[in-house]
Amino acid sequence: MVKEAKKELIRLRNVSKFYYMGDSVVRALDGVDLKVYMGEFVAIMGPSGSGKSTAMNLVGSLDVPTHGAVYLDGHDISTLEESDLAQIRGKKIGFIFQSFNLIANLTTAENVMLPMMFQGEDIDVRRDKAEEVLKLVDLDNRMDHYPGELSGGQRQRVAIARSLANDPEVILADEPTGNLDTKSGGNVMEFLEKMNKEGKTIIMVTHDPDLAEKYADVVYWLRDGVLEKVTKRVGRKFVDVTKKVKKAATNGKKVVKKKVKRKRGK
Ligand code: ADP
Ligand code: MG
Repeated sequence: MVKEAKKELIRLRNVSKFYYMGDSVVRALDGVDLKVYMGEFVAIMGPSGSGKSTAMNLVGSLDVPTHGAVYLDGHDISTLEESDLAQIRGKKIGFIFQSFNLIANLTTAENVMLPMMFQGEDIDVRRDKAEEVLKLVDLDNRMDHYPGELSGGQRQRVAIARSLANDPEVILADEPTGNLDTKSGGNVMEFLEKMNKEGKTIIMVTHDPDLAEKYADVVYWLRDGVLEKVTKRVGRKFVDVTKKVKKAATNGKKVVKKKVKRKRGK
């Protein structure tokens, strides 16, 4: 990959998500730092219940943290109105889920067109784009089929096409191969890898360490809601960069604040 200044896309700073259940508290995430740079393939790894989906919902700004801050393109999302946030998110991020999340009574084409509708695209544009992205996943011959008429692998490919509808910079995939057989899962991974090579940022949640280290540049390892370690690909190996990530997270905070103050001349 060409060396250039890395642009930060998404950042979690000391983020926690707690669920209060009667007298007890579930610490789904507890003080997690995470940064995603443009063009990276990032994996969020951990066993079941470790907080991966919670982290993904925060990374995708589908949810807000109990403590800490989430930045999208340098903007603290807690300062944005939900309607503005939905608009930014809809344009910037494409989502792929383990259970596909297609709408059963909409056709393949209509499912793909839905995110574009929320962005206010015209019907003709939507239809053309749906065909274009369905072609990418080799399903332009299934435009008018319903999800129930497709195999699991095909449904996930529709979901991938839908995630690409608004030309997002980032694709967030939560266990995208979790409900697929090995071959279909392999196809999905190859597609994500191809998208990444073409410049898209990919963030994938998985419980499979082999999958994480096969495809990702950086792996965030979660256990019981806590960041156990962060590893980064260097050549063929992964090296532990946990300390660096934690240090950068705390330093970053101070630097950003100072800069803002100076610019405003206060
Ligand atoms: P993973 O995706 O790694 O399997 P999750 O992020 O879904 O884990 O969940 C992390 C922890 O938070 C689990 O213990 C789960 O039971 C709990 N949890 C998740 N969502 C909720 C919720 N809405 N209310 C209460 N507890 C939740
Ligand atoms: Mg999950």
